[in-house]
Amino acid sequence: MEKREQLYAGKAKSVYTTDDENLLVLHFRNDTSAFDGEKIEQLDRKGQVNNQFNAFIMQKLEQAGIATHFERLLSADESLVKKLDMAPIECVVRNISAGSICKRLGVEEGLDLVPPTFEFFLKNDELHDPMINEYHIRSFGWAEPEHVTRMQALTFEVNDVLKALFADAGMLLVDYKLEFGLFNGEVLLGDEFTPDGCRLWDVETREKLDKDRFRQGLGDVVESYEVVGKRLGMEFI
Ligand code: C5P
Repeated sequence: MEKREQLYAGKAKSVYTTDDENLLVLHFRNDTSAFDGEKIEQLDRKGQVNNQFNAFIMQKLEQAGIATHFERLLSADESLVKKLDMAPIECVVRNISAGSICKRLGVEEGLDLVPPTFEFFLKNDELHDPMINEYHIRSFGWAEPEHVTRMQALTFEVNDVLKALFADAGMLLVDYKLEFGLFNGEVLLGDEFTPDGCRLWDVETREKLDKDRFRQGLGDVVESYEVVGKRLGMEFI
């Protein structure tokens, strides 16, 4: 497999084409952004830690029968993935109230959400990723109804698998964001699952171990991501 030109650079990852039209290289960079790119910093080792964290989680999901774009780890900060036709939609599941739902609905942080709640957001930084519903997705043609149903079902399946995985390692999966795309007509999980895109709290102390450490200036951002990985049994290269 040969890496070719850069196709796209996102806020934390760059995407490269390869000599196989169905495969892409994801390069996880050290750039860390929050508030729609208003706050940006380089955090040493973050690219490597997130690439390996994502590989670990994607493999766990595959083992649980959830189809993802992940093919294999290429290096400390690069992975090979299937090229998906991505839907411009973010799927969020929340097990505990935190972040934007607290502001939007005026609820306190830390409430157990039973059942877990689900939200769609439109991927659009300029508009600050507005919350949308299934009708918006249908009316504007952002995804086919049957694909939306599948994305929602897969997002909840991921919750069952990962809530248990993190619970076994003494952590609460508070919320997370997933993105999906199509590969030969099938909905696959794309993008990444890392502490940049989820909230994880220590079950005893409720200490934040995710990107909120960066958003809230709590420090030890990458160190906390590594703590999460090590608690899950990961060994970082
Ligand atoms: O900000 P909010 O509370 O809506 O975020 C919910 C979850 O989705 C959090 O875990 C957050 O890290 C993640 N998220 C993300 N990318 C976004 C928006 C939210 O990874 N653009």
